Amino acid sequence: MWEFHGGVHPNGYKNLSANKSIVPANIPPFLILPLLQHIGEPTEPVVHIGDKVLKGQIIAHCHAYNCRKLMTVPLHASSSGTVVAIEERAVPHPSGLTAPCIIIETDGKDTWTNLIPLDDYANLSPSMVRDYIARAGIVGLGGAGFPAHIKLRPDGIDTLIINGSECEPYITCDDRLMREKPHDIIAGVRIIKHALGGTERCIIAVEDNKPEAYAALLKAADQEIEVIKIKTIYPTGGELQLINVLTGIEIKRGQLPAKFGIVVHNVETARATYRAVQLGQPLVSRIITVTGGAIENPQNLEVLFGTPIRFLIDQCGRKSEIERLIVGGAMMGFSLPDDNMPVIKTTNCLIASIGERIKDKPPQMPCIRCGSCSDVCPLNLLPQQLYWYAKAKDLKKIHDYKLFDCIECGCCSYVCPSNIPLVSYYRYAKAEIRKSENEQKKAEVAKQRHEFRLFRLQREKDERKARHKVADKNKQDKIKAALARVKEKRAAT
Ligand code: SF4
Ligand code: SF4
Repeated sequence: MWEFHGGVHPNGYKNLSANKSIVPANIPPFLILPLLQHIGEPTEPVVHIGDKVLKGQIIAHCHAYNCRKLMTVPLHASSSGTVVAIEERAVPHPSGLTAPCIIIETDGKDTWTNLIPLDDYANLSPSMVRDYIARAGIVGLGGAGFPAHIKLRPDGIDTLIINGSECEPYITCDDRLMREKPHDIIAGVRIIKHALGGTERCIIAVEDNKPEAYAALLKAADQEIEVIKIKTIYPTGGELQLINVLTGIEIKRGQLPAKFGIVVHNVETARATYRAVQLGQPLVSRIITVTGGAIENPQNLEVLFGTPIRFLIDQCGRKSEIERLIVGGAMMGFSLPDDNMPVIKTTNCLIASIGERIKDKPPQMPCIRCGSCSDVCPLNLLPQQLYWYAKAKDLKKIHDYKLFDCIECGCCSYVCPSNIPLVSYYRYAKAEIRKSENEQKKAEVAKQRHEFRLFRLQREKDERKARHKVADKNKQDKIKAALARVKEKRAAT
């Protein structure tokens, strides 16, 4: 076992929901399904308003040729019903952005489409299993929503890591899944191994604050799968930090773990893979922790994608007015402007807060240069310098100090005795840099277009001149020929 630099031990607040078994959420009257719920190419609807759909039926996919090779997955109806609209709706994003969505009015029957499992997957080629996983719409359920089949290409992978270290405060869905469905996870891990063409090592990493989950997986695993207990420290669940802890390899931002023969999948992705391949069920739901001080009955719910957040919160009960609604964990999640948005594939936790914080924070004070932020940064960055340059809007310097290596884990903000919201400054600076780069690109394109216009005008002028020259020459030739004919005629007369 290795240790990465920094890290913190924030208040967990996991006890609110850690002992609540997973229960299915109610089926809402309407499902709002954004066409893009993963990183990569968007999908386009293949249904129309008025169409009847069954649970698990493909309702949108990428129209590009052989989209299973692309960074995309199809979208399935998460329950049976009727398509009533295809329109822009607000989606879970900090900006409150709208995006095209398919709206299904559910019929309450939740009738599955015809499911075709791959019973005999072990005798099929890894590429066939990968294609099947792609068609099931599976994306990484631990974070960003990277299409899972892209991370299942063998490409020299010898170590498969299954991430069961749920290090963010409040979130307990993976913990409950490991405790309650260890056999599903192990079955999924075997399928992932097969799709990768077999790996030398397969490790499931569980933090040592989840003893029941560790014991359940250990009991379910066979000799080919190592279940390892790792130290509880935030952000050990980050992909690069987990690889560092388990293998000692330090992967720089921008490098792919696959380059080092490693691939990381989340425990719920493994379970989704099992359900897709062995039960034939595409990805239409996931487990979500609904928690926070404003929730009457915090729970871990199996939720259909497209379920409105307001509907879920109503199911758990409201204890008081929600002050802040956060999607994701308390450290890396983001606030939503309202609860009128749907749950999507990357939603793992909803925190309805009444102002309780992972640390009681008085107002922001000036930086005292204590250096605590550098001590805890898992990427070994200099958060204080990043803060100064972000504040001074010195975008060049902040770039030089590797701002884009920052994973926005929030450790620096958490320990800052002056309560400076450092991550907000970094997010602002990143947005400014991206804006300025876009403007530069636009200016470059405009310059190229202007230069091309000048070139085209000159070319047209030259061509006109050349045409006139030819026309003049032809005219002169004709006059000469006419004069010659007159001269010949006179001579003949
Ligand atoms: S922890 Fe806060 S006060 Fe201390 S150096 Fe960093 S930014 Fe300044
Ligand atoms: S938010 Fe960024 S700068 Fe702060 S500790 Fe995390 S990685 Fe380091």
